[in-house]
Amino acid sequence: MWSGDSDSLSLSPDLVYPFKKYKNLASPYANHLIACAGEKHCQFGVIPNKPDAIDLAKYLEKQVSLESDAKVRMYWSACVKGCGLHGLGDIGFEGCKAKLEGESVYGVHIFLGGRTTRDANIGKSVLKSVPLQFAKYFVESLMIEYKNLRKKRENFEEFYQRVLSNYSTSAIGFIMMLKTYIRVLNLKLNIGFKENVKTGKNEVFEIFEVGRALYRQIAGYEPYEIYDYFTPVFPKKPVKLKNTDRFEEGFIEMINSMLRSEKRALVFSEFHFEEMVYKVLA
Ligand code: SF4
Repeated sequence: MWSGDSDSLSLSPDLVYPFKKYKNLASPYANHLIACAGEKHCQFGVIPNKPDAIDLAKYLEKQVSLESDAKVRMYWSACVKGCGLHGLGDIGFEGCKAKLEGESVYGVHIFLGGRTTRDANIGKSVLKSVPLQFAKYFVESLMIEYKNLRKKRENFEEFYQRVLSNYSTSAIGFIMMLKTYIRVLNLKLNIGFKENVKTGKNEVFEIFEVGRALYRQIAGYEPYEIYDYFTPVFPKKPVKLKNTDRFEEGFIEMINSMLRSEKRALVFSEFHFEEMVYKVLA
């Protein structure tokens, strides 16, 4: 970097000691990490980026350590231009601004499903404008699923194809948030991705199935007695779940909406579950 002094050329410490700053981190989360320059070194950057990418890899290694035959490619771009190839990552992060309690904060859009193999593919956004400080919890939820469901030597790209690609992007993002909410509040509910899901990426069916599983675990019985292809037949309306001290009122209200034919379609788009989740993470 030119110092402006005609007699001397000085280099920024970041350029002189780049390897000292970013020590080797041997982990399935770090081995394939890509991150662009970020806001400190590029005028277009919206988030710091490199430190965020490294912090997340370290956090995941500590929280959800994977076997050495696992592989997760996390690619980070600090802005929409995409020099960090976020669209091609197994998990892609695109820097953006997010809103938290009315304030503008660092954020990321999270993408899944990018591929660099012969069938190269651009990933799809599953969570938008997530406050950067919370992104690690949602990715942690996803990695718990990868760890629990993965087959021997299955990399994340294969896992995505086998399991996650059977869900809509809305359902994937919703389940990532829901798992985080349940874990942080220690709610003793078991929700996750299934290997042989048959809902055909139909969001209404997906919402219904998640709501049904939550209801069954909380009430101890099925909300409806008879179903026909993810649609309740009898009775017309289930007994509403009652609020208890164990759960937030809004959470119970959301489950009741997930099971009501006329309301369930609105849960992904209009319920704003993310605001409840951000509140418990803050
Ligand atoms: S994606 Fe490219 S343009 Fe955007 S901050 Fe990174 S290096 Fe700069």
